[in-house]
Amino acid sequence: MGKVAVAFASAAVVAACSVAAVMVRRRVKSRRKWRTVVEILKEFEEGCDAPVGRLRQVVDAMAVEMHAGLASEGGSKLKMLLTYVHDLPNGTEKGTYYALHLGGTYFRILRVHLGGERSYLDVQDVERHPIPSHLMNSTSEVVLFNFLAFSLERFIQKEGNESNSQGVKRELAFTFSFPVKHTCISSGVLIKWTKGFEISEMVGKDIAECLQGALNRRGLDIHVAALVNDTVGALSLGYYHDPDTVVAVVFGTGSNACYLERTDAIIKCQGLLTTSGSMVVNMEWGNFWSSHLPRTAYDIDLDAESSNPNDMGFEKMIAGLYLGDIVRRVILRMSQESDIFGPSSSVFSQPYVLRTNSVSAMHEDDTPELQEVARILKDLGVSDVPLKVRKLMVKICDVVTRRAGRLAAAGIAGILKKIGRDGGGGITSGRSRGEMQMQRRTVVGVEGGLYMKYTMFREYMEEALVEILGEEVSQYVVVKAMEDGSSIGSALLVASSLQS
Ligand code: ADP
Ligand code: MG
Repeated sequence: MGKVAVAFASAAVVAACSVAAVMVRRRVKSRRKWRTVVEILKEFEEGCDAPVGRLRQVVDAMAVEMHAGLASEGGSKLKMLLTYVHDLPNGTEKGTYYALHLGGTYFRILRVHLGGERSYLDVQDVERHPIPSHLMNSTSEVVLFNFLAFSLERFIQKEGNESNSQGVKRELAFTFSFPVKHTCISSGVLIKWTKGFEISEMVGKDIAECLQGALNRRGLDIHVAALVNDTVGALSLGYYHDPDTVVAVVFGTGSNACYLERTDAIIKCQGLLTTSGSMVVNMEWGNFWSSHLPRTAYDIDLDAESSNPNDMGFEKMIAGLYLGDIVRRVILRMSQESDIFGPSSSVFSQPYVLRTNSVSAMHEDDTPELQEVARILKDLGVSDVPLKVRKLMVKICDVVTRRAGRLAAAGIAGILKKIGRDGGGGITSGRSRGEMQMQRRTVVGVEGGLYMKYTMFREYMEEALVEILGEEVSQYVVVKAMEDGSSIGSALLVASSLQS
């Protein structure tokens, strides 16, 4: 071999070696990055862990906080608000009633016609629209209420004369999914905004009066007969169909619960007399807090950067507005510490860019190649994500939703414990185990987009409830889904309050 050939050959060997070295280095680097990602996932998973022992501590804490909130005003983070609803609809109601429901994401208008028999409930013309975002943060409440009045006017114009042939005043329930301090069933003042709403001048104002004013300004012959928390609406519909319904919970944009309490247990309001001896209490459980809740660094950051820091801690772990953003935060950290999502991953720095609907669609993607996950990521501008990264996405969604479902179950079990329906006889009953109450059938009405549309959330919740209560007691606890329960139930409540 000549000198030139030898030089060529050795140059080729050197080049091949350096290419191989680069490839090995790249592979090592990529493995190291993947290991980092797996570690982030593992740490997150451990942080979210909610074994049944821990859930039981949350159950106890919920029951204790409920007591504290009933004992004195400000005695707990749970406000345990009086609703002045003591008689729930029983099926004898007759007539046509309306409901306007302001939720966290949607507003709905509907009309129900009641024939006086439980089985004759005709829900007509349900209208459902997203709340325009500029109304959630406007400087004046007038804009919001004018918009609601305008929407109601359009709804009524569409029905012509059929539904109101006698020309009588229309009776309306205003279903309002925010904390209100009631003075009676038909009026109350806003305590604070939640779920990203921020119209500060409205805090402290009478909500029913604001809506009535806007309706009057438009010259509409509509009377705001009741101001109803969405959970109370759901309880009313549940009770109408099944009088064993004593608890209602909403898992939508936000989360909250109410239940039927004995008036003598509402210590902060002594001498409260009702014909039924009980009253529905709006817990405002979104604000529940306990050191037993499995909180991660992502939850802490989400809270700190929200419009209501240090507030609604439980809601921020279990409700639809937030689950997507917890997932986003985990992905963001992973993409900052590795480049597994490629160059377009900066989209994940945008707060709330990943919605909980997308989380459920990815989580429940049953295509072998996870095409739905790929589609959602592509819609966000992140293309060509490898399968193993798509699987990672599904896993993150699973961790976030499993924790949410399990904590939601602990919350429900906490209420059951407080009212002695958890098989243990209640926490202040002072009964010995031998004197435990006979277990009674208990129905928990549940509604809200997260619960209705996210099967895995629902399954994790129901599974954990059985784990907490045990197989035997669980047989007496029925969880019933109630689509549009908040709005329909509120209309029923107007009917029963006007007829009692
Ligand atoms: P609102 O909270 O306005 O009363 P909903 O009860 O319908 O309205 O809840 C809407 C919320 O439910 C959405 O903001 C979202 O967080 C959640 N949601 C709706 N659809 C889905 C879905 N397919 N999967 C998961 N969550 C969903
Ligand atoms: Mg709702």
